[in-house]
Amino acid sequence: MKYALVTGGSRGIGRAVCLRIADMGIPVIINYQSNYEAACETMRLVSERGGQCALMRFDVSNSAEVAAAIDAWETEHPDDYIAYLVNNAGIRRDSLMFMMPDSDWHDVIDTSLGGFFYVTRRLLPKMMQRRHGGRIINMASLSGQKGLPGQTNYSAAKAALIGATKALAQETASRGVTVNAVAPGFIESDMTKDLDQAELKKMVPTGRFGRPEEVAALVGFLLSDESDYITGQTIGINGGLF
Ligand code: NAP
Repeated sequence: MKYALVTGGSRGIGRAVCLRIADMGIPVIINYQSNYEAACETMRLVSERGGQCALMRFDVSNSAEVAAAIDAWETEHPDDYIAYLVNNAGIRRDSLMFMMPDSDWHDVIDTSLGGFFYVTRRLLPKMMQRRHGGRIINMASLSGQKGLPGQTNYSAAKAALIGATKALAQETASRGVTVNAVAPGFIESDMTKDLDQAELKKMVPTGRFGRPEEVAALVGFLLSDESDYITGQTIGINGGLF
């Protein structure tokens, strides 16, 4: 059976993506780092709509933890494989660059970019061996496309993710694995709850923040068979803000 893995599936956009995948009839593995309660709530919501799911805890920025968790899952599921991967886990640690501590630079890059590398590298061999319908979606950001002040770490991580998406897409295309990035603008979630939404939404042409479900709908399309000829792309979902 083909499974989906969503990193950072416990909250926000990742949770909405898990629900969307469940609605597509695909069993979903919900990764989280530390928020067990939120991950259980995602699991409850998936089960409530008749979906199949399981939790998988690991820190995406820790190569050994990623490998150990996926090794254990593969041992328990000898006839299954993870065909759909959504690299969604991410964090923000904003400050002007002249004041940015080393840890904020590294934590943000290690989570978004390192996480993409460790999880994807581990899953690629099986996805490519099967030669059919593998899907990798990377959660980038408008910040990685245009650069945002106060986010040199985050913009760098997300811009690098877009570059890696384009490169990997060319490595895997002949094996039927597509690799795309989604670049949201302002989306309502824990990540943006400390922002001045009333002020910021004035910058957005549609006049509002996006909803996690709207991002999940786009991810769902990119995971589907209908998107088979789309690879190496970064698709914005930002209410017209650029
Ligand atoms: P969120 O509500 O803050 O949720 C973040 C998720 O990532 C949580 O599930 C968290 O797990 C997980 N996570 C964080 N660090 C992790 C790690 N080291 N290992 C495993 N999981 C980790 O964020 P969100 O707004 O849904 O954002 C999801 C993605 O979209 C991120 O990549 C973000 O950069 C991107 N994005 C968001 C926006 C926006 O406006 N919200 C815009 C553009 C891009 P725990 O629950 O265990 O902490």
